Amino acid sequence: MPLPNLGNAHLGQPLQKMIEEKSALSTKKPAMGFEQISCPICGADRAELHVQAPDRFHPQSGASYQIQRCMHCSMIYLNPRPREENSSQFYEHADYLPFTSLTASRSFAARIYEFLRRANLRWKRKVITEFLQRTDGQRPTGNGQMTIGNLLDIGCGTGEFLLEMKNAGWQVEGLERNERAANWAREHHRITISAGSVEQLAASTRQYDLITMWHVLEHLYHPGQALEILASRLRDHGWLLIAVPNIDGIDARVYKSNWVALDSPRHVNHFSLETLGRLANQHGLTLHWWRQLPLDAFFNTLMSEKLAAQRRRGKFYLWPLRLLRAFGVACASYLGGSHTPFSYAAYGASVVCFFEKNKRS
Ligand SMILES: [Zn+2]
Repeated sequence: MPLPNLGNAHLGQPLQKMIEEKSALSTKKPAMGFEQISCPICGADRAELHVQAPDRFHPQSGASYQIQRCMHCSMIYLNPRPREENSSQFYEHADYLPFTSLTASRSFAARIYEFLRRANLRWKRKVITEFLQRTDGQRPTGNGQMTIGNLLDIGCGTGEFLLEMKNAGWQVEGLERNERAANWAREHHRITISAGSVEQLAASTRQYDLITMWHVLEHLYHPGQALEILASRLRDHGWLLIAVPNIDGIDARVYKSNWVALDSPRHVNHFSLETLGRLANQHGLTLHWWRQLPLDAFFNTLMSEKLAAQRRRGKFYLWPLRLLRAFGVACASYLGGSHTPFSYAAYGASVVCFFEKNKRS
């Protein structure tokens, strides 16, 4: 099915017309199968164009998507977006990387992704350990020992992170929307995995010490509702970990429409530390601590260079320069997202946030 072109119409038109169109973005009629939405955080419906992005799986199709910035609260989101019932068709591309365990893909990108994913898994476990060691010592109930309890991973894909945590002593469970990935994980890792979406947890009475959501919230059509449900599944003193690509990151700023983590139209929400913290706050969660996933910077910049080259039908001999630039931007992004004595700003490629459930008054 051809992808709809959602409007390059303003290009090459007089400035005045452009400005009029820009401010009227939210009243444009969306294409078939798409819906116009208001801001997922504040509900305002005045938004301006942030960037116009291609589908990275079809970079030369000419299809592009509008990513808008709320003029009231600065939240950045895909608008218009595919109606939820139509969204699965955009995940059907063979190179959709979270599920490459399911395929025998040996493409260059798949190999890089595999390598980074393994290193990332160790980092994910380390970041959780570091956080729990810090906080448990500070709690009145803490005895200096890190709590290892039960963990639920939302959107666990083929279960590699759960396996890593299981090996570290956690009792693990997963939730995964993709039936095939869930089956694969159950068979290969012997882990309890439910197939389904966050909404079904509303009916559950299970409680968890830690719920993790790695690069999932940016895909969810009702992110606020999801946070509300997850907060209700946390034990007192439980933690919710949310990792998302950072729209405020240095790599996002440099690559603009080629930034691979825009991933239109699969990513419908584009958070910064600030907007994520605000949304979580509305749903009974308080930000406690944050870090980044450093390898995301290297993954993002490489894949963004690849996308830029594909869109421009770039010459192969420019690749050494592209790699050099990717490395430079990744390093800048990594520094921008690090806690240093000089900076505490979140300009890394991703943010990993630990939220605490607010005490009931
Ligand atoms: Zn808003």
